[in-house]
Amino acid sequence: MEDVIIIGTGCAGYTSAIYTGRANLSTLILSGTQPGGQLTTTTEVENFPGWPEGIMGPDLMMNMQKQAEKFGARTEYATVESIEKKEDGTFIVNTTGGTHESKTVIIATGAAARWLGLPNEKELVGHGLTSCATCDGAFYRDVPVAVIGGGDSACEEAGFLTRFASKVYLVHRRDELRASKIMADRALANDKIEPVWNASVKSYNPDASGEMESITLESTNGGEDRQLDVKCVFVAIGHVPNSSFVGDLVDLDENGYILQTDGTKTKTPGLFAAGDVADHVYRQAITAAGQGCAAALEAERHIADSE
Ligand code: NAP
Repeated sequence: MEDVIIIGTGCAGYTSAIYTGRANLSTLILSGTQPGGQLTTTTEVENFPGWPEGIMGPDLMMNMQKQAEKFGARTEYATVESIEKKEDGTFIVNTTGGTHESKTVIIATGAAARWLGLPNEKELVGHGLTSCATCDGAFYRDVPVAVIGGGDSACEEAGFLTRFASKVYLVHRRDELRASKIMADRALANDKIEPVWNASVKSYNPDASGEMESITLESTNGGEDRQLDVKCVFVAIGHVPNSSFVGDLVDLDENGYILQTDGTKTKTPGLFAAGDVADHVYRQAITAAGQGCAAALEAERHIADSE
């Protein structure tokens, strides 16, 4: 029986593990399909306190893992399929690799990229359609590409892609970016980025071999449809929380985010939620880390109160 099982290896998960490991609680971290979480798909993180020159996202996550393991936390690569609560108040966590028992569970599974939901979207992923510029940008050198979205992610992806692409269209459904001013200004000042306002993607148009050739854009303010010849489309329209496996031990809001009842507590005593799986407001590395810390302290208190 573990003291704490932490599901997820992003900022929230590893911060929880640093705290529970350091509190001498036996801690098992279960990583999902994306070890290290969303920051492993980003480049430079400029706003994590303590790194005045910035730090690369994957490096930050490797450091966090090292720090958690230094205090005795163990990481296992398995995807959680369900959680059950036993009558004695402890938990069974069923994973693809087997079953674990724990006195407390911290859900820190984050969120996954949102897609547009167009008919041929699934088939095109990996063939000129992606949600990760860091992963795939270098494949599209000296060709035009498009980024869909108007938030910080879209601006960041667009800026990164200018290192490779001949031109980056930034396609947004409104005429004003949602991104923070610094990110928006930086994107709009970049000569290689051309904003395409008031437009949404009507269709992805692959060539005969199934690779992206162009997209058709629909005007959102009554204008004409337009075609953009692009070899790759980077979708950056936000995220969906990874909460579907939890079942009725937690309540979800209408978008699938776990509802926290008091700090990081959920409606089930001993079960906590931290980071992007529960937070649709701030969604920052540092706020996820903060919630991870809070959940660890709550788990520690829960165990002390139960004994
Ligand atoms: P976001 O802020 O939710 O922005 C999503 C963007 O996609 C919005 O512009 C939205 O349009 C658009 N969109 C949503 N659904 C769409 C659809 N079906 N079709 C077309 N467009 C659609 O998401 P995000 O950019 O991923 O950022 C998430 C959080 O991470 C934010 O808090 C952000 O500050 C943070 N972040 C920070 C950094 C950084 O500081 N380095 C980098 C990346 C992300 P509307 O504007 O019209 O709603």
